[in-house]
Amino acid sequence: MSADAAAPAPWIAAQRTQLLAQRGHAWLLHGPSGLGQFALALELVRAWLCESPAGDGAACGHCASCHAIDVHTHADLCVLMPETQMLALGWPLPEKAQAEIEDKKRKASREIRVEASPQAWALIPKAMARGDVSALSALEPAQAVDALQKLCHDLLAQRVGAQPRYFDAADLPRPPGLGPLTRWSRALIQEARTADHPFNAGLMLESLVAQARQTLNSRH
Ligand SMILES: [Zn+2]
Repeated sequence: MSADAAAPAPWIAAQRTQLLAQRGHAWLLHGPSGLGQFALALELVRAWLCESPAGDGAACGHCASCHAIDVHTHADLCVLMPETQMLALGWPLPEKAQAEIEDKKRKASREIRVEASPQAWALIPKAMARGDVSALSALEPAQAVDALQKLCHDLLAQRVGAQPRYFDAADLPRPPGLGPLTRWSRALIQEARTADHPFNAGLMLESLVAQARQTLNSRH
């Protein structure tokens, strides 16, 4: 992509220049669709990550960082959109999602999948070992049970010398014994039955995490 092709529309550039003059650790750009929020967000990101920004703080359009963003491969940029939109706009999906869709195991999702956030997903196993409820707080109870069942599956797999399927091996804590893992697996099947209609979602999450923590910290 040439620098000209990547040049933002004049109204986006004006907004970008205005926002770059301000400071903030996070920006929330919202409004009716079609105003160009994504283009503006991308312009801000290009400027923040640029190796030699212009005087007004705008991205140079020529450095390695600008180029990596233009070809959608910047290691420090995480774009989170529904998979259908990622594919339409030519952004790469996580490897596993790409493979599942290519192998026709499932269709691209029209919603943002919880697993699509590799920041959030990878942290779940070790957070559970610490008993950290916040790692599941963005999930509905049924999704939380599903995530824990996947974690339990992977630890059981590791325990018997197989490869984990849902998490990276590096993100998993040391697997506990087969006994605790099997009991946990059975308990999660029970939890899954009521997860769609929990008596109290907050209490359910807390109890799920307490159970996960106990299992992950048992050594026999
Ligand atoms: Zn640059």
